Amino acid sequence: MNPRVVIIGAGVVGSALADELTERGWTDVTVVDRGPLFTPGGSSSHAPGLVFQTNPSKTMTELARYTVEKLSALTLDGQWCFRQVGGLEVATTEARWHDLKRKHGLATSWGVEGALLSPAECAALHPLIDPSKILGGFHVPTDGLAKAVRAVEAQARRSMERGARFLGEHTVTGVGREDGRVTGVETDRGFIPAEVVVCAAGFWGPRIGEMVGLTIPLLPLAHQYARTGPVPAMAGVNDLVLEASRPILRHQDQDLYFREHGDRIGIGYYGHRPMPAFTFGDDPMPSVLDFTPGDFEPAWRESVDLLPGLAGTAVEEGINGIFSFTADGFPLIGEHRELAGFWVAEAVWVTHSAGVARSLAEWLVDGQPRIDLHEADLHRFEQVQLAPDYVEERAKQNFIEVYDIVHPLQPMERPRPLRTSPFHPRQVELGAVFLEGGGWERPYWYTANSASEVPARDDWSARYWSPIAATEARITRERVAMFDMTPLKRLEVSGPGALGFLQYLTTNNLDKSVGSVTYTLMLGFDGGIRSDLTVARLGPQVFQVGANGPLDEDWMRQHAPAGVQIRDITGGTCCIGLWGPLARHVLQPLTRTDFSHDALRYFRAQQAFLGEVPVTAMRLSYVGELGWEIYTSAELGLRLWDTLWEAGRAHGIAAAGRSAFNSLRLEKGYRSWGTDMTTEHDPVSAGLDFAVRMDKGDFIGRAALGSRPADRRLTCLTLDDPASVVLGKEPVFAGDSPVGYVTSASFGYTIGRTVAYAWLPVGLSVPGTPVAVEYFGERLPATVAAEPLFDPKMERIRR
Ligand SMILES: Cc1cc2nc3c(=O)[nH]c(=O)nc-3n(C[C@H](O)[C@H](O)[C@H](O)COP(=O)(O)OP(=O)(O)OC[C@H]3O[C@@H](n4cnc5c(N)ncnc54)[C@H](O)[C@@H]3O)c2cc1C
Repeated sequence: MNPRVVIIGAGVVGSALADELTERGWTDVTVVDRGPLFTPGGSSSHAPGLVFQTNPSKTMTELARYTVEKLSALTLDGQWCFRQVGGLEVATTEARWHDLKRKHGLATSWGVEGALLSPAECAALHPLIDPSKILGGFHVPTDGLAKAVRAVEAQARRSMERGARFLGEHTVTGVGREDGRVTGVETDRGFIPAEVVVCAAGFWGPRIGEMVGLTIPLLPLAHQYARTGPVPAMAGVNDLVLEASRPILRHQDQDLYFREHGDRIGIGYYGHRPMPAFTFGDDPMPSVLDFTPGDFEPAWRESVDLLPGLAGTAVEEGINGIFSFTADGFPLIGEHRELAGFWVAEAVWVTHSAGVARSLAEWLVDGQPRIDLHEADLHRFEQVQLAPDYVEERAKQNFIEVYDIVHPLQPMERPRPLRTSPFHPRQVELGAVFLEGGGWERPYWYTANSASEVPARDDWSARYWSPIAATEARITRERVAMFDMTPLKRLEVSGPGALGFLQYLTTNNLDKSVGSVTYTLMLGFDGGIRSDLTVARLGPQVFQVGANGPLDEDWMRQHAPAGVQIRDITGGTCCIGLWGPLARHVLQPLTRTDFSHDALRYFRAQQAFLGEVPVTAMRLSYVGELGWEIYTSAELGLRLWDTLWEAGRAHGIAAAGRSAFNSLRLEKGYRSWGTDMTTEHDPVSAGLDFAVRMDKGDFIGRAALGSRPADRRLTCLTLDDPASVVLGKEPVFAGDSPVGYVTSASFGYTIGRTVAYAWLPVGLSVPGTPVAVEYFGERLPATVAAEPLFDPKMERIRR
């Protein structure tokens, strides 16, 4: 297959994509750009090109690592496209210095080598730094400078040698379509037919999206970049052709970064007010606005403070350059759902450009990217997150926080509250402490509950946590608790063919009697885990699917045959998890339906009335205790809560939050998709092969099972010292070698120590194996444990 492809935009993304596609044999590629080649005037034409690879996201780090690898091997007429001068991030505050240790851990987890350096070592690498101003730095030798404009041309030339065309001064004015497919692009110089159109139009992408009725949720924001005059202390330091020799430098405590331009210094600043650049009307917004010196004043002051040698010069030129920000800081990659063949690669930094291009090329050519892209998927957002006001608010906040120390649990502050469950008023009365996920207010613990004695925590792991979680976990294990499960996505799949469709879509056997509930996996065609689902058969062809998020619905819709309906019922319904040894004591008196162990077995669903409230109760437990997920429609939610609460009082019921929930599920070994496993993992490695029925007939991914190297395994660890806590993403060491990384972790209140799941080589995944988890630079001894740690015989659930 060699389809005709049109890429809109000859920036660093468009040209990298042309290169990656033509390398894979898709040679009929036309790249069109409004501007002249190869500096068409988008963000890439102005980017100073600093590439710091380390990111809290493994995906983003891998995208950056490939960009480094690829651009390092590229030249344009003998000139460099990437200079591996190294990257140095310095700390001027204790908090930052502490955080650099975490960052070093993240780099190690994702396979990027780096080192923490003393002030003197930093100054030795970058002599402009005043070592008395810093506490230390984090150095990554493979980071460096991308020459974006050269990288555009070098990749363009290579793809043209393979058959691609680059057309400058062609403005796309429309997108052709027929029968739900793209047919090409309309330009001011005529129509260019294509089977695949990729929008890589940078921050103008939303305008192209409008042409095809697609929301591309990004906000163009201006960012200041200035250059000094010659710096006396740098005279003769750099060869003019090589431009730079010292590491690119970040001073994140003051929102600053620096690079060398010969004997001058370039300074980038994120400390100014967010300056959105809306693209209204027909005139294309320029990618560079006039420099506003007033906004830059603090930047200059702080720059001279860190790099005193700058005092001998001044800012000579500057821009307010525009590029894209998104609601969560990740790019936007994927295909339009209503217009087949229309793809998007937007909000991509130079840093991730080649990585994104490679992944998208794999997606187009092979049907799926090799690395997990769920964080960057165009369809990851809930509808409410596509509102322009939401995108603007969140994107601006992301700009503000781009260099901040952000805790993994830190919730957005605005716009909140956005989505609340029907139980919200009661949760507020009980003093719920809400964090946020998918726009939902999610109680983490309730201050109405008392705190328990647990080991003291360090400041970082104590954030967004309370010893009350220990009480809530204990009440769940000893009595009974109510968990708000409303935010979990619920889909109703129905219609003739619904069973066959779900059988083909997932790994477990769903062809069971009405009332059955099944834990099952959705795989990609390559056998990687796309999601895990709980599917309840409520009628012969009616299923309620407990899913992980919008991407599950998206994948289902892509494969649903005519006649099968998929309805998101999340907002119109609600759910309470009623769990604990006394759960039946609470529930049974409320209903005439028999909820005894024999009448409603584990993994069975039952419709019933609890008092006046019609519910669907599913006997499942994500926390490892007897109980039910109890669903009803949203308008009855408050009544359901009150009914259970009243009945539970005699049994010491409590409301419990996500913090306790996470601890309980890890003690039980229950995985969470997106954190513990992703498309990069297969069911056996993730310990989920019990949910795969090879004998049930064909399903997506079946043919590929067993074809991947099964050299790693999701492994349960416990930290040896009961006072040690880790949170996730930390590197795991065997001896002195990094061997893997933690996915989820939580203190296990029942077992009295921290439980961590980690991807480790199979050889180390043996119970009793000693390892260490590095947390802020400290190696915490840990031991591989047999799982699950709690109630392996399932005696508490099946009774
Ligand atoms: C001042 C500044 C500093 C930055 N610093 C860094 C940094 O240090 N590190 C880093 O990684 N990133 C940095 N960035 C971000 C980075 O430059 C961008 O994210 C990246 O260049 C975007 O590349 P792109 O190919 O997606 O978009 P662009 O380079 O903007 O290319 C999009 C192209 O689409 C074309 N186009 C748009 N509409 C149409 C149409 N209707 N018809 C035809 N063509 C069209 C445009 O002409 C443009 O050439 C910086 C950006 C700026 C502005």
